[in-house]
Amino acid sequence: MQIDSSVRFDAVGGLSDHIAALKEMVIFPLLYPEVFERFKIQPPRGCLFYGPPGTGKTLVARALANECSQGNRRVAFFVRKGADCLSKWVGESERQLRLLFDQAYRMRPSIIFLDEIDGLAPVRSSKQDQIHSSIVSTLLALMDGLDSRGEVVVIGATNRLDAIDPALRRPGRFDREFFFGLPNKEARKEIFKIHTCDWTPKLLDTFIDELATECVGYCGADIKSLCAEAALCALRRRYPKIYSSNEKLQLDINSVKINAEDFVMAMEKIIPASRRAVPSPGQALSPIMAPLLGNTLSRILQALQRVFPHAELALKKDQQQGNLNPFLKGDAFGRNYESPSILEENVTDTTICRPQGKFLDFSRKAYWQPTSCRPHLLLAGKAGYGQASHLAPAVLHSLEMFPVHTLDMSVLFVNTSSPEETCAQLIREAQRTAPSIIYIPHIHLWWDSVGATLKATFLSLIQNIPSFAPVLLLATSDVCHTALPAEVQTLFNSDFGEVFNIQSPSEDERKHFFEDLILTQAAKPPASRRKAEVSKRKRKKTDSSFPVAKRRRSFQFNEEQRHTSAEKAMDIMTESAIVVLVDYCELKQLLDMVTDLTKEADIFYFEKLYAKICQCIYQHQDDNDKTELLKVLKKEFKALARM
Ligand code: ATP
Repeated sequence: MQIDSSVRFDAVGGLSDHIAALKEMVIFPLLYPEVFERFKIQPPRGCLFYGPPGTGKTLVARALANECSQGNRRVAFFVRKGADCLSKWVGESERQLRLLFDQAYRMRPSIIFLDEIDGLAPVRSSKQDQIHSSIVSTLLALMDGLDSRGEVVVIGATNRLDAIDPALRRPGRFDREFFFGLPNKEARKEIFKIHTCDWTPKLLDTFIDELATECVGYCGADIKSLCAEAALCALRRRYPKIYSSNEKLQLDINSVKINAEDFVMAMEKIIPASRRAVPSPGQALSPIMAPLLGNTLSRILQALQRVFPHAELALKKDQQQGNLNPFLKGDAFGRNYESPSILEENVTDTTICRPQGKFLDFSRKAYWQPTSCRPHLLLAGKAGYGQASHLAPAVLHSLEMFPVHTLDMSVLFVNTSSPEETCAQLIREAQRTAPSIIYIPHIHLWWDSVGATLKATFLSLIQNIPSFAPVLLLATSDVCHTALPAEVQTLFNSDFGEVFNIQSPSEDERKHFFEDLILTQAAKPPASRRKAEVSKRKRKKTDSSFPVAKRRRSFQFNEEQRHTSAEKAMDIMTESAIVVLVDYCELKQLLDMVTDLTKEADIFYFEKLYAKICQCIYQHQDDNDKTELLKVLKKEFKALARM
């Protein structure tokens, strides 16, 4: 088929490791056959791309075909979707497959891209019909029959690796597997840059950085549609008439300027694919919760770094993507490239004086890479302390460069396979994608609800993970470590800092949580003059009964009294230039009251109370005189204190 020849590797963001490996596997055998001939290396016949939708599998295959076509040499690219190869006539699908391979061979060098290969070669079982079984066998035979010069390469793509017949994954068939995960922040930045590179003027680097931070869980395709949607928002803003007019309007394209607001609107519209399918467990602390839980989160991250030093890589802000994953970089293993010669012809001094008399040195170099031994961390605290609802998701969000494998009831019991099978697959996958995270929220509930076989499977699989494999087990519990079942307790060694006890928020944190709401937002003037006038008229009656003796204060800020910055205060004043009557001492009293009220409270109580205060503020948003609002708030707090 004709493919867009402009798609090259530079149109692919954040997959540099895959690109390097593919060059080695596919392009080099085509370009430098002599090297492969010299060392009698058999180039791979196929590779499997797997991962969630929209992560660039097809894009990379296309770019690969274009990159292989250099100068006069063109590489034929054949794309088939798994289901397209199926036919209702017995034997027809097999014939089509044979034809495809024949044609690819005739037009070699060529790449056959089998998209959604799980539809074509599903796991063969007694339950599966005979037809599928025969197609899989044909495909296997065809792949085995490919000659060994690497001139026909088969690439299979799937969203579900477990749904593919395992025979296809044997060496000599799809030898290499590439996981296309959701992009991390650096990768998202690259993808944003790719999809906005033709915009003039270009987006600021700092803005792209901010966008990438916000777009956790977006795949490449989501980012592409986000950019398109933002551009459409800008067009809509500039030319609202084009929606109502039937005529083609004369547009001045240069006057369409995309701004941050367009991206905000676009983000409201686009739900990333990952959240549509399985919600991603990582979630940053919301700006509301940050004052309450921010300190605890930083303490957890510190504890985590001690248990799982790889976390440091994710937490370093200015890392370049190329440095992010030392496990994929040859030199990060600390290999000594000036190692002694192992060739017969070249016996040198270094060959004779090699360290420990051995050529192969697999010892770990502590100074080259972080080391952890069975890194486990339990976030334990009373129910409602936010460990599973806010803190663990925020931890996972900070570690978003590592793949997360969530092991909870919804995963175990919703899948079609047995819970034991799902659990085994998930832990194996975590091992394969290391450094990675196995996340078990509410481990106390989980343990109580699953059967003995699953418990045994889980424990043995966890124990089978090699000791120094960087697979973090992160769990949350609503009961303290010592109250957990003995088997779960043994997973977390408190002597080595693997148990983090979450405390209830301190007085300062509680105060900080309500501060902005009570001291700033409750004292905000009405949004506009017009509204103020309306509210004035509405409140005329009340005004007449307003006690003259009452301290009437204009809306003023005092650095000592509040933490709000002076600039912010000025902003509010110039925005409205309306005098607001509010007793600041009373506001402070209210803040103290609510801080007292929430002593020992759980997170849900904080959230409920926060919403209650917001509602009161909203109801009184048009008031110039906030006395009524303060009264209502006081009443609410008193009522709650009595309960
Ligand atoms: P599916 O599994 O649904 O077939 P896929 O993984 O093959 O999805 P693609 O079709 O390659 O996804 O991606 C769709 C589009 O998203 C691409 O054409 C490209 O524009 C954009 N895209 C995806 N990933 C990337 C990326 N890493 N860099 C740049 N663009 C990307």
